[in-house]
Amino acid sequence: MKVLSVVGTSKSGKTTTIEKIIEGLKKRGYSVGSVKEIHYEKFAIDQEGTNTYRHKMAGADPVTARGYKETDILFGKSLDIEDILAFYKNDYVIMEGVTESSCPIILCAHSKEDIEDKKNEQYFKRVFLISGVAASCMQEYKGLRAIDAIKDAGGLIDIIEDEVFERLPDFPPDCCSACGSSCRELSSRILKGKAEREDCVLHKASITLKVNEKEIPIVPFVQGLLRDSILALVKNLKGCEKPSKISIKIFD
Ligand code: SF4
Repeated sequence: MKVLSVVGTSKSGKTTTIEKIIEGLKKRGYSVGSVKEIHYEKFAIDQEGTNTYRHKMAGADPVTARGYKETDILFGKSLDIEDILAFYKNDYVIMEGVTESSCPIILCAHSKEDIEDKKNEQYFKRVFLISGVAASCMQEYKGLRAIDAIKDAGGLIDIIEDEVFERLPDFPPDCCSACGSSCRELSSRILKGKAEREDCVLHKASITLKVNEKEIPIVPFVQGLLRDSILALVKNLKGCEKPSKISIKIFD
């Protein structure tokens, strides 16, 4: 699954850019999901007095509202982006306003000055394209290409297909640095052509863990521990001296 985020100041053209990306990717046959970050403290779809709200107040979490036209699963807290992405099984996920991730970023801006204002943000290292209002009057900004999503949606999709790579994990730097950097730094290096997606050691993972059918990334150290312990156990079982693939399911 490939993931990218479109960030930028209010009214810089983020949502229009995302609409064009989703439409363009769909036209090319990809399945697309989206995530919208809401920067409004009081935001909640579920309102006091509804039946689902009463379920929540009674202690249910999550609560599902199943209607004729849509199904909404309501969690009683703000989830981590990695936990949210674990629910998606699309070819692409386009996020709006999310910077807390290792994914590539498209920056929507009003002007050159607006871009300059973002230069010191941590996420700026993962910006691979400029779009939004500013892109209507520039073709590049200091080596970063600028594309107007309205005038050249096809060009925008071409770049996304070329540059956005399979989703990387997003571990804290003290959890793993087996590629020589953090997950976010590796993402930045890949976008600058200084590294490959395959440099993430989890690319060659020899053990996978699924909890409730969701694949859970495991840092290399823990992978090694789990793998060695399970192999040692299995090899001692009669008839299992040469295992090539082991599956274990644990039910609670
Ligand atoms: S090896 Fe993979 S999981 Fe480890 S820091 Fe690098 S990108 Fe992250």
